[in-house]
Amino acid sequence: VDPEEFRKQGHMIIDFLADYYTKVSNFPVRSQVEPNYLRKHLPDSAPLVPEPIESILEDVQEHIIPGITHWMSPNYYAYFPSSGSVAGFMGEMLSSGFNVVGFNWISSPAATELETIVMDWLGEVLKLPQQFLYKSSNNNGGGVLLGTTCEAVLCTLVAARDKKLSQIGRDNIGKLVVYGSDQTHSSFGKAAQIAGIQNVRAIKTKRSNSFALKADSLLSTIHSDVKNGLIPIYLCATVGTTATTSIDPLMELCDVAKEYEIWVHVDAAYAGSACICPEFRSCIDGIEGANSFSFNAHKWFLTNLACCCLWVKDHNALTKSLSTNPEFLRNKASESKQVIDYKDWQITLSRKFNALKLWLVLRSYGVENLRNFLRSHVNMAMTFEGLVKLDKRFEIVVPRKFSLVCFRVSPSTIARSNYYYYYHDNNNNKNNYDDNYHNGHGYGKLVNDDYLVNELNRKLLESINNSGKVYMTHGEVEGAFMIRFAIGATLTEEHHVIMAWKLIQEHADSLLLGSS
Ligand code: PLP
Repeated sequence: VDPEEFRKQGHMIIDFLADYYTKVSNFPVRSQVEPNYLRKHLPDSAPLVPEPIESILEDVQEHIIPGITHWMSPNYYAYFPSSGSVAGFMGEMLSSGFNVVGFNWISSPAATELETIVMDWLGEVLKLPQQFLYKSSNNNGGGVLLGTTCEAVLCTLVAARDKKLSQIGRDNIGKLVVYGSDQTHSSFGKAAQIAGIQNVRAIKTKRSNSFALKADSLLSTIHSDVKNGLIPIYLCATVGTTATTSIDPLMELCDVAKEYEIWVHVDAAYAGSACICPEFRSCIDGIEGANSFSFNAHKWFLTNLACCCLWVKDHNALTKSLSTNPEFLRNKASESKQVIDYKDWQITLSRKFNALKLWLVLRSYGVENLRNFLRSHVNMAMTFEGLVKLDKRFEIVVPRKFSLVCFRVSPSTIARSNYYYYYHDNNNNKNNYDDNYHNGHGYGKLVNDDYLVNELNRKLLESINNSGKVYMTHGEVEGAFMIRFAIGATLTEEHHVIMAWKLIQEHADSLLLGSS
């Protein structure tokens, strides 16, 4: 690394990104390129001789940016947004600059110790019970920074699996059963598959219960599994589900789990951030009964990707499953048992110095500003929800809890519109709904009212996203296709939200009138 070259190129990249942030709202939010677009623009093989940074940046501008979906755009409302920030980026830069590989304490003591301290700070801000904090749990609990929630679920699941198998014998792995709801994130099923657990229950939730997992449904599922000779080991409860941000009742679920010695993991990937605000802390009431808790700081906590915060009450359960001890890593500090070697709390050996960015975020903004940032998004979501409610053509599908609004054009609007009488088949031919549907010619497809409602909402979403002006994604609950308006991008302000709503109305106008 030549320091002067680093300085020169570093300044160029920062200038490039600062310009990008200035212009980001001008780009189509969802990339509009076609599959395989990039191969046409790049050479077939890697260069044999060095190329100047200037021409590389030109290519980034010309060929890479068109293929980027702009998660940093203020008009980004898809999935759950990712809120990068100056502090998050600066922390990431420091970490990349030092380029330490802090797998154990001796490989970079500051990386390990800062992580432990920052996770205790953040655990306190969240008012997690003392058992989750390293400093006040006789060093049994503590937090660790992983890449993603998928890793948090997998690590805690294998800890729970091995704890049980050490009692009943590894041959009994086929009897283990794990629980979530039909709203639990798909990472749970994937983790179970990787962990070799075949019995995965996705317990049904209902709209009448806001799609939360009911304790009595959990209990009856456990009863029937136990009756059939299965052994319950793990529950993945969610605070802020992906589709609708529903909240599983931790207190009741933990009570049930306790009876059966089930490990409870709380996945608060998105909504965990909001729990630093006193008004949202009750969403994790009952957390004292859980074994582990995780949230993604890279979702809604101004921390650049990737940064998943996981706390456990008993890190020995993790290390029993995940530790390795090859000769080349042996050192006095590890053998003294006075230090944490985070490699033993996670899947991989090598790990980034991620604590730096979380430390910078906490210090640069302070907890009060972080709370205000979250509240500003919740307020914008309330504004948006109010606008949806004022337009009688639309309906809110699930009541809003945080900064996600789930809405759709309502079935009654569609019944009154031209759209109800005409639909387009797979070849985009206009068909008379009455002639074809009521006479029983559905073009081989089951065409019914729900299908039409879903199709119209799907088309509405697609036409808005094709405009490039905003980007939203969808969800489905009880067969109803809904549009998810997820506020969380760092640059979003109220006027962006109002503009987005006008755009949605315009597209709905032309779709509802122009369907004939
Ligand atoms: N859990 C929930 C509730 C989520 O909403 C998401 C992503 O949106 C995840 C897990 C997956 O997170 P990750 O991509 O960090 O694994």
